[in-house]
Amino acid sequence: MAIETINPATGRPIRRYREHSRSEVEAALARASRAFAAWRALTFAERARALRSVAAVLRRRAGGLARLAADEMGKPLAEGEAEVRKSRLACAHYARYARRFLAPERPPGSPRWARVVFEPLGPILAVMPWNFPFWQVFRAAAPALMAGNTMLLKHASNVTGCARAIERVFAESGLPRGVFQTLVLRSRRVAALVADPRVRAVTLTGSTQAGLSVASQAGAAMKKGVFELGGSDPYLVLADADIGRAAEVCAAARLLNAGQSCISAKRFIVVRPVARAFARALAARMAARRVGSPLNPSTQVGPLARGDLRAELHGQVRASVRRGARLLTGGRPLPGPGFYYAPSVLSGVRKGMPAYGEELFGPVAAVIRVRDEDEAVRVANDSAFGLGAAVFTRRRRTAERVAARLEAGTVFWNDFVRSDPSLPFGGVKLSGHGRELGPQGIREFVNVKTLWMAG
Ligand code: NAP
Repeated sequence: MAIETINPATGRPIRRYREHSRSEVEAALARASRAFAAWRALTFAERARALRSVAAVLRRRAGGLARLAADEMGKPLAEGEAEVRKSRLACAHYARYARRFLAPERPPGSPRWARVVFEPLGPILAVMPWNFPFWQVFRAAAPALMAGNTMLLKHASNVTGCARAIERVFAESGLPRGVFQTLVLRSRRVAALVADPRVRAVTLTGSTQAGLSVASQAGAAMKKGVFELGGSDPYLVLADADIGRAAEVCAAARLLNAGQSCISAKRFIVVRPVARAFARALAARMAARRVGSPLNPSTQVGPLARGDLRAELHGQVRASVRRGARLLTGGRPLPGPGFYYAPSVLSGVRKGMPAYGEELFGPVAAVIRVRDEDEAVRVANDSAFGLGAAVFTRRRRTAERVAARLEAGTVFWNDFVRSDPSLPFGGVKLSGHGRELGPQGIREFVNVKTLWMAG
């Protein structure tokens, strides 16, 4: 069956893609294995040269790639260009530091003739989401390839054009054939790839549901996996916070990518004395954002990526309101073509409502009022997820104390949660396991080999 992409700004079909046949997938697997033998034998300097030329192609193609993301998933052009820039940075970062991150080690206390070395595993399967169609792929590919692995990408179906464009970027950069390949497949065909002995490990970024399914397949085949899954990041606003600044940062953190980010701010946990002022300030800022076509340079919030995702979000908002939450602004799909949703703020959110316990993947903020810092931490941790978190307080010491108690992979102070190529990124609980980025990211897909060379 063909895969059809749809422009979320208009609701109209863009293009139909033929799925790769079984024999095409077989050929790609064989190429990935063959290419691995030669690619792993290169020096770090040679692989770094290849990654730098990938970065150069990304720079040249940034405009076209941003346009593709706008068309396929509704990302405003400026955000798309920023995403391509960040993808370039990931390539440059690992080109520069991979050798240092993977240098042989002699652990403290080990015999002087022992060494630990880090060797690549082989072809890695990457199952990726549509919300950052370039960044998600490059942040997985840059370290995996620099370590000497090859990669097969199964991207989200609604960004098949982006997936093919990424493969062209690698080809145009002169990377040997088979080092990076895109497979056009529906998700039901992922299980066979995970089970194939030529695939040595899996990395999946996406929903917790997809992660649980693929993690169990990887477990059954005894394969290593990195899983970057859903989140419901808590932003804790304490009594001494600068409310104006907190509201500004929180609105931006909720609305980036129309709220469709794993590390979007989703739950705003605010102590009682400042709860009303914060909720009002947040609602004013959310309502003031310009929603519109991703192709219009003044747009701040584009459409949601798919009609079914908008319907699901609206269902969560309505169910929360039915159970007693109050809408301070928004709360409805915008009329007209495309999958637009009004930036929305729900206040009075309590346990038992979807806005409390589920991930809201769109421009909807849930404000939860709490008594004090202790209750704020308890509510923040009362979640199946554990990806990012932020704390708003004037005191660094308070922020450090709260950060130490939060069940999250990343905590920011008075700012919104972001990933950075130099720092590890990932979650705990149902947000997944393993880390991407930083020195830890490149060590996920290596064979940690002990050499005992007493001779
Ligand atoms: P998704 O529906 O889980 O899709 C992600 C990828 O997995 C797509 O390539 C999809 O292919 C595939 N897939 C879906 N179900 C599968 C299954 N049962 N078996 C194998 N593959 C499967 O997620 P999404 O809607 O694209 O992305 C949104 C979710 O990703 C959110 O929950 C978000 O929080 C999370 N996310 C997490 C991070 C992180 O770093 N932690 C980053 C970004 C997004 P098809 O498109 O063909 O179905």
